Amino acid sequence: MVRSQSSERFDLAVVGAGIVGLATALAAARRGLRVVVMDRDAQANGASVRNFGFVTVTGQERGSMWERARRSREVWREVAAAASIPVVHTGVWWTVRRPESLSVLEAFLATDMAAGCRLLSRAEARRRCPQLSAPAMAAVLESTIELRVESRQAIPRIAAWLESAHGVTFMRSTTVSAIDMPSLYTSRGRVQAQRVAVCPGDDFTGLYAQRLSAYPLSRCKLQMLRLADPGFRLPGAIMSDLGLGRYRGFSELKAAASLKARLSVEQPDHIKHGVHLIVVQNADGSLVVGDSHQYAPTPDPFSHEAVDALILDEFRSALGLEPPPTIERWIGTYAAADDRPVLIDAPEAAVRVAIVTSGSGASTGFAIGEELATSLFDIGVAA
Ligand SMILES: Cc1cc2nc3c(=O)[nH]c(=O)nc-3n(C[C@H](O)[C@H](O)[C@H](O)COP(=O)(O)OP(=O)(O)OC[C@H]3O[C@@H](n4cnc5c(N)ncnc54)[C@H](O)[C@@H]3O)c2cc1C
Repeated sequence: MVRSQSSERFDLAVVGAGIVGLATALAAARRGLRVVVMDRDAQANGASVRNFGFVTVTGQERGSMWERARRSREVWREVAAAASIPVVHTGVWWTVRRPESLSVLEAFLATDMAAGCRLLSRAEARRRCPQLSAPAMAAVLESTIELRVESRQAIPRIAAWLESAHGVTFMRSTTVSAIDMPSLYTSRGRVQAQRVAVCPGDDFTGLYAQRLSAYPLSRCKLQMLRLADPGFRLPGAIMSDLGLGRYRGFSELKAAASLKARLSVEQPDHIKHGVHLIVVQNADGSLVVGDSHQYAPTPDPFSHEAVDALILDEFRSALGLEPPPTIERWIGTYAAADDRPVLIDAPEAAVRVAIVTSGSGASTGFAIGEELATSLFDIGVAA
């Protein structure tokens, strides 16, 4: 349903129909509120459909991000069941090749964040998945709590379900150019709402640009590949030594210092391009493989063959397999900041802006949506 110049006054207007906007709409709709979601694109096109669809708990930064991931994973389970979104696989295998990595895994297992995790010996991992035959594989940290959905399918289905089951109104191809509460000025007319959640992804140069320019925001570009079905099912998502140097739940452990030093000597090009390995599988058997990290205010839009080669090199080393043929390539971008994993700002009493600045919105978005709803509706706001 599309409305413009609506005479209806909504309880909440959400700008942005990525995972954070949809999560906020869900949290408000569950409170029985009237919600409208607006997005400038005709269908989802941002980071939320370009990602791995990997809902990661293990490895998230200790504290609020880990808590958000745990809560979001619960909501994903509920939403996937209600909106007929297949959970394509569960869990993650961190396969490691270096003794320094094993020390990191052992240190992690001694923390309270290791619930649902255990160490598999090389022999046990081989028994469980004989196709993973990297000669150098030393051990695997298995976590059973992660979920993986196919985002291209999941994001449209969440939106359709919000519309049909929760009565949320969607206005697509609608750019919001200004907010003057209680009015939002859009390319399709004026919309009125008591509260507004701006969830713009990595577009922080539009609404409230002057205010947001005070934060150290940048952008990160990632290269992604889809490979043909290797002919067997993965035991879960696959990650490797390089990920232990990037995911803060691991990289902030003391034991990670010597691993990071070794990686910078042995894999300097991977480190330079921010390459680490995530491999997930689709229902048709094909693999989504990435990624790289290039930071810039406006990253270039090009996919560099040399960077893809580094990703595939790590695939070869970690899985012990020749990569199947590449069938798709794409880039994605997300907002980045050195000083925080999520930016939640209140430019006006009845408005919140939420930007995930750590590339983890698929894993934490549902919890952030609930936080925004609480902040807008439970903490007194002058209407
Ligand atoms: C390649 C890649 C891989 C990733 N992998 C993972 C992963 O496996 N796990 C994980 O947890 N996270 C992952 N991430 C990060 C995750 O995808 C993002 O953190 C998350 O999608 C951000 O969601 P969002 O809703 O904030 O932004 P987006 O999905 O970018 O949505 C923002 C929306 O706002 C709209 N918009 C902006 N301004 C306006 C306006 N003025 N008017 C109307 N509409 C507007 C845009 O059109 C867009 O649709 C990955 C990201 C990328 C790029």
